[in-house]
Amino acid sequence: MTDVERRSDRSPVPAGWTYAPAPESTEIVSLRERYGLFVGGEWVAPRSGEFFETISPRDEAPLAQVAQAGEQDVAAATEAARDAFATWSKLPGPERAKYLFRIARILAERSREFAVLESLNGGKPIKESRDVDLPLAAAHFFYYAGWADKLEYAFPNRSPRPLGVAGQIIPWNFPLLMLSWKIAPALAAGNTVVLKPAETTPLTALLFCDVLRQAELPPGVVNIVTGDGRAGAALVESDVAKIAFTGSTEVGKAIQRRLAGTGKKLTLELGGKAANIVFDDAAVDQAVEGIVNGIYFNQGHVCCAGSRLFVQESIYEPVVDKLKRRMATLRVGDPLDKNTDVGAINSRMQLDKIEELVAAGRAEGAEIYQPPCRLPEKGYWFAPTVFTNVAQSYRIAQEEIFGPVLSVLTFRTPDEAVEKANNTPYGLSAGIWTEKGSRILWMAERLRAGVVWANTFNRFDPASPFGGYKESGFGREGGLHGLEPYLAFDD
Ligand code: NAD
Repeated sequence: MTDVERRSDRSPVPAGWTYAPAPESTEIVSLRERYGLFVGGEWVAPRSGEFFETISPRDEAPLAQVAQAGEQDVAAATEAARDAFATWSKLPGPERAKYLFRIARILAERSREFAVLESLNGGKPIKESRDVDLPLAAAHFFYYAGWADKLEYAFPNRSPRPLGVAGQIIPWNFPLLMLSWKIAPALAAGNTVVLKPAETTPLTALLFCDVLRQAELPPGVVNIVTGDGRAGAALVESDVAKIAFTGSTEVGKAIQRRLAGTGKKLTLELGGKAANIVFDDAAVDQAVEGIVNGIYFNQGHVCCAGSRLFVQESIYEPVVDKLKRRMATLRVGDPLDKNTDVGAINSRMQLDKIEELVAAGRAEGAEIYQPPCRLPEKGYWFAPTVFTNVAQSYRIAQEEIFGPVLSVLTFRTPDEAVEKANNTPYGLSAGIWTEKGSRILWMAERLRAGVVWANTFNRFDPASPFGGYKESGFGREGGLHGLEPYLAFDD
């Protein structure tokens, strides 16, 4: 047996292989000491007088002071947006498109700066911010810029009209990308916006205000108010025509209760517990890559993460063996190192939640595997984890962990796979791995999930609608479907 063959029998990379550090410089990012709120095209001090510190989860180092918006601040932002709506909504479509194209181009030009800041503030690996978040964020603006002057064609004979001011609330897992998913369609449809980023990751949204100025977007068309859930709740209560919320199911339900009967429009993009289903005729190595990408991408902080793996019983052992070997090659550590695969957990709070659910998994009797890896001392870290021997009733098979933790279950027949995959309150996404096209279609018809990937996972495109069933929410983002919730129609 040659050296290479002997090694490949045990591990996909040679034993003892180490990577030299490849840190991305942070010099390209210049931060202010303190950020106000972005209202009416200006930086304003919060009337609340409150600020909080935003840190980097990679080493807990403080990055900047950020304003905590109060009710009056949110009211001022919605007023600025309403003033701007009067002219923005009357602009001809090609004019609105011009601004959106500008924003897209500037994001593309400044993508390195944004990528570094995203990784610094959020903890995700730089290669993901650089190669996924930033290109997709720019692509969303490019895509919706293309629709701004074609609304009549997109919705023929329906007289599409903008709604007014949209209040938008986003989470911390894809801060700039979620901002793009929200702002691009709203502006293309002729609305103006007040957006509240998540409290742990406000910095790329604040840097985005710079882009708005560079693009000479009329003041007040986009307003950014920072702060925790109190600022979000104030936005929900404020005088807006629509709330678009992405975040946890718990908060989504509270918002839905609050808005019932008010006439405000609502879309909810909530949590998930996706099934990634591997049949015995699947290309196993390819499937293992898809499983790894499905759950360890962005530390598992992904609403559509493939957190429940269903493997057909006959190939259970080879799949789990290969998966464990592949996990051993994942590099966990500094998000700003270009070789890092799994970065920092976003916050202390999220780490506590992951640890609590993992402890519950052990206590309920599941078997845990974590590859040996040295975690940095400072910051928030969690090793890639897989649980086997999992029953469907276990908390780790039912609850969204939102971390790098996979639960493996088995099935024998396609019917059983469908039944088990649908046995969750969520319905955001699913994955199917098989060589049979007919089986893909048969499964996709029966899976209660908004997005179903076949022989791939975590693929996104601005032209493709995304959204959930059941407790994963309602409404779609992306594609034509993503424009509709920002428009009123005659019919
Ligand atoms: P979260 O619900 O705690 O917070 C989301 C946002 O809501 C934050 O900006 C937060 O400040 C704000 N908020 C908190 N309390 C509020 C209230 N009472 N009223 C109004 N706003 C309030 O969620 P999170 O922990 O930031 O994000 C993780 C969750 O987001 C996960 O459940 C994940 O699945 C989900 N998510 C879903 C999608 C999707 O497209 N379906 C995408 C990304 C994340």
